[in-house]
Amino acid sequence: MYTAESIEQLVEEFSSLPGIGRKSAHRLAMHILKLPKPDVVKIAEALVNVKERINYCNICWNFTEENPCRICSNHNRNRSLICVVEDPNDVIAIEKTHEYKGLYHVLGDALSPLDGIGPEDLKIKELLHRIEGSVQEIILAMNASIEGEATTIYLSRLLKPLGMKITRLARGIPVGSDLEFTDEATLARALQSRTEV
Ligand SMILES: [Zn+2]
Repeated sequence: MYTAESIEQLVEEFSSLPGIGRKSAHRLAMHILKLPKPDVVKIAEALVNVKERINYCNICWNFTEENPCRICSNHNRNRSLICVVEDPNDVIAIEKTHEYKGLYHVLGDALSPLDGIGPEDLKIKELLHRIEGSVQEIILAMNASIEGEATTIYLSRLLKPLGMKITRLARGIPVGSDLEFTDEATLARALQSRTEV
């Protein structure tokens, strides 16, 4: 089948995205082709903007347009609490519960020896570095997966000797599920009844 080179290139780019197969990529390319030019420019600008404006917060490693991020620089947040999560989507999920008023720390991933992800690949050094006297509790809010569990065990062993309270989310989050896909009520309950490790 003959396809113009620029269409082919667009299909290539789309199919390199996660979860997009060649067929969907082709459908997206056709959709773009049919859009009025200003709409296409808007999409292209949004893509570039996100890369230019979004950075990692130097304190909690969440995505942010300001540094430090709005949560880290908000003095109404409880600075004696740090909730450790795997990725920025987990921060969004926990914020949606309106149950948590402390700070966050985003590891960037979970430990997964099989995928070659070790402690040095996560923002663990950065976590240790920011813990100071005012921190009273660290909540380990990992996904209910094997990797999440391994990360919880690793971090609790590492942090326990530092003397502050270490807690984890209560069971009740379905095994194998990501925090970001857990409904708000369940996540709020898991936070409220967190247990000490
Ligand atoms: Zn931050």
